[in-house]
Amino acid sequence: MPGSSVRVRYAPSPTGDPHIGNLRTALFNWLFARHHGGSFILRVEDTDQKRYSAGALGKIQESLRWLGLDWDEGPEVGGPHAPYFQSQRLDIYHEAAQRLVEDGSAYHCYCSPDRLEEMRRSRRGQKGSRGYDGHCRDLSPAERDRLDSQGLVPAVRFRMPREGETDFHDIIRGDVVWRNDLLDDHILLKSDGYPTYHLANVVDDHLMDISHVLRAEEWLSSTPLHVHLYSSLGYTPPVFAHLPIILGPDRSKLSKRHGASSALQYRSEGFLPDAMVNFMALLGWSLDDKTEVMSREMLVHSFDADRIVRSAAIFDIEKLQWMNGVYIRQMSSEELADAVLPYLEKDLPGECTPVDRDYLLKLVPLLQERIRTLGGGLDNAGSVAEAASYFFLDNVNPRAEEILDRVREPETAVAALKRGLDIMEGAKEFDHEVLEEWFTAAAAEMGLSASRYFGMLRMVLTGRTASPPLFATMEVLGKERCVRRIEGALGTLAKGA
Ligand code: GLU
Repeated sequence: MPGSSVRVRYAPSPTGDPHIGNLRTALFNWLFARHHGGSFILRVEDTDQKRYSAGALGKIQESLRWLGLDWDEGPEVGGPHAPYFQSQRLDIYHEAAQRLVEDGSAYHCYCSPDRLEEMRRSRRGQKGSRGYDGHCRDLSPAERDRLDSQGLVPAVRFRMPREGETDFHDIIRGDVVWRNDLLDDHILLKSDGYPTYHLANVVDDHLMDISHVLRAEEWLSSTPLHVHLYSSLGYTPPVFAHLPIILGPDRSKLSKRHGASSALQYRSEGFLPDAMVNFMALLGWSLDDKTEVMSREMLVHSFDADRIVRSAAIFDIEKLQWMNGVYIRQMSSEELADAVLPYLEKDLPGECTPVDRDYLLKLVPLLQERIRTLGGGLDNAGSVAEAASYFFLDNVNPRAEEILDRVREPETAVAALKRGLDIMEGAKEFDHEVLEEWFTAAAAEMGLSASRYFGMLRMVLTGRTASPPLFATMEVLGKERCVRRIEGALGTLAKGA
């Protein structure tokens, strides 16, 4: 049970499918909370009606669950600060906005969208002209009464000091200083009655007793405003930590080009949650600049904010694939068979025989070394279905040229394949060691190079030039399939001759 005073939150806006950057923020907060024995809170920042997307929250929760990032307070689990949906807390923000207006820290703004658009257009390109021009900043009470009496509903804007500087401490970036004349009189409460992110976020972080704010770097420029809001509302600000941006290997902004865009897509491609967690933990944090593979327990044990870096984190899909392979190799045959079964059922070509679990249990040890994802990767390479299809096909039917690639003389090839049939049919135990012994002896007797002979057998049995060890593959394929494939190859050579 959480016992420390560390309280952190993941505060997504449900506007679309969560991507890697979103979940990296969630993960860092979760690790920080678990490391310190604190609480991890999920708060839904759903106050932007225009960008709201109905299915997004479901996807966010599903992603967190998939990654094993459980939350101590929030949707579904409740908690002492419920509701955890900002859209259900409007009264709280109205009250805060009211207070700010009353003490002069904020003011009513009656500007229509048209006027604001006009203002932007006419000031475009002018120096120091970003943001609001202060039109309503100093309205007299009489002017305000007149506008109110016209039935206009004002927004509430923060009255940002125009001189001086705002500074705050960020545990990743150190002391950050901002010139106030670069800051805007931001809207806190819109005329539709919904707060903007800034007001709701600050009020809730205070009311929910948030101790540390770990969030994406893009929010750094909003922090000076937040610092003013904390102070105007008489709140103590939390500790800030702005997490580094994530870039692709080409150092451009992370996008679909660099890998899947939605986090759940990684699940359908067969990435394992523990591998994802390990990989994402290294997007801006490291234990010692060299340790890569770390279990969840080890991450929780070692994660702290002092080793989060400032410089951009590089998202490298190849590293993720490698990491996934590492986790795949750590699984038991049973675990791996269970994990790959649904992917095989989904991804194997239609002409394959249905997947039998006992057969699968025998073949997963052969695949374990070779696969990086369970489903199709981005290029469908390294997936189980791709690596294993020949175990499930009725026949692999290589062409005559492929069969003769290693043993070029057709008569020798035919004789060697027939000899192979005899060995297989005579084998009492279809065991890889026995098979290897017999086939090695046969190669020697026929005066054939073992590597050429086995290369041909590999092509005949798997349809490929590379496979897991040949005799282990034979054993798993079983006598019947092997015999059928050799007979098929002999048929092909007879036709080709
Ligand atoms: N709702 C904001 C977001 O999506 C939260 C930012 C913050 O953590 O303060 O990303």
